[in-house]
Amino acid sequence: MRRFVLLVSLLLAAGTVRAAELPEPIAKPDWPSLEKYQRSITRREFCRLLDKVYNPSKTVRRYLNLADEFVEFFTDEEKAQLDFTLHFAASDAKVRPVHRTFKTVSELKELRNPPEAPLRGVRLVLDPGHIGGKWADIEERSVVWGNHPRIREGDMNLLVAKLARPRLAAAGAEVHMTHETPDPVTPLRPKDFLEETRRAVLAEKGLAEDDPASRRESLRRIILWRAELAFYRKAEISQRAANIRAWYPPDFNICNHFNATEYSGSGQMVNDNRMVFLINGCYGPDEMDNPLTRFFMFSKLLEQSLSIEMAVGDAITRHMLKIANLPPAKYGREKYQCRVNDNPYLYARNLAVSRQYPGPCLILEPFYMNTSWTAERLAAGDYDGVRQLSCGPHRSLLREYAEALAGALIEAYAQWTVAPKSSQPAPDTGAAAAAVR
Ligand SMILES: [Zn+2]
Repeated sequence: MRRFVLLVSLLLAAGTVRAAELPEPIAKPDWPSLEKYQRSITRREFCRLLDKVYNPSKTVRRYLNLADEFVEFFTDEEKAQLDFTLHFAASDAKVRPVHRTFKTVSELKELRNPPEAPLRGVRLVLDPGHIGGKWADIEERSVVWGNHPRIREGDMNLLVAKLARPRLAAAGAEVHMTHETPDPVTPLRPKDFLEETRRAVLAEKGLAEDDPASRRESLRRIILWRAELAFYRKAEISQRAANIRAWYPPDFNICNHFNATEYSGSGQMVNDNRMVFLINGCYGPDEMDNPLTRFFMFSKLLEQSLSIEMAVGDAITRHMLKIANLPPAKYGREKYQCRVNDNPYLYARNLAVSRQYPGPCLILEPFYMNTSWTAERLAAGDYDGVRQLSCGPHRSLLREYAEALAGALIEAYAQWTVAPKSSQPAPDTGAAAAAVR
């Protein structure tokens, strides 16, 4: 399969492959795919994960019939159309083992790697956030802040991932990147969404096709903006997810970004600088009305990748704080993001990437780009040694970021994969999972 996809990538680069030959994104709920999770979780654990991590607003319960021995998932709030029934394990001792797409902690412990190759047998996906180059404008990720040169976040993310890859490979990991160039992986373009978006916008505004108001310039701009959003957020992300599923489901997905504050797209600078790391969860009340979103949420919950995600999230936090001792991001709307353990930098949030990527997934959002410290360091790019910048003497921020990313994955995985010294039992998932109780 991987050779096939490599071939597709090469042909695609040559412009000879049509969309039909790329792996298909998931477009509708695939409830039978959850069949393998029968009796793999107790009712208590299911409810704990649902209420504490995945849907603290409890709004999804409108679509559930939660009995003692099973839970029924319905299409509608009237609970007339049944999608799926999940039977619970009767007790912790009776939890049925499931073959997951990623290595669980107990499987990682069986690797018993030497200390110099802690990631041997571990498959990683690096997903540098966004598209870049000439596409960055469309995504509103190409900005000039103050007197600093233009920064395209997608290009910076790609550089960081390329710097991290050899470090991870040297530790024994098999590493795959979602893209090697700043170009989109989806063959679709904004123009492919124009007609569908136009119809939707006219319907929302109650305008007929022949209404003169439907040709207003302001309306044309809204339609274009929404078609672009459908291209770079919906189509691009779901194609990356489909490609990852076709390559191999990884043991861990890392999506590296740089953060920015609201209104940063219009060039607004701030003095503040914060970071946050995001795992999948905390689906908001209105997000539960979408059946595909509900399906993805239950897929993630039943996958039970939380303890691995928390361990990597905590390790990333420690490594990033060594670069700069910045405060955590502040969130107001608690229905859309929630803490999962005692790490104030780690939040659960429902994002397109972590919702759709198979297996554990962490989104890194360190450093506000629209603050002088970050903008100057990003503008300085990738360089050897230390440079005197107006914010002080610094190594390349891109390299420091790549080292933190690789160092954190190595540290988190080594605790499981490296054969423990005889007197030291390896840490287990129980401690990490207990943090959200
Ligand atoms: Zn970003």
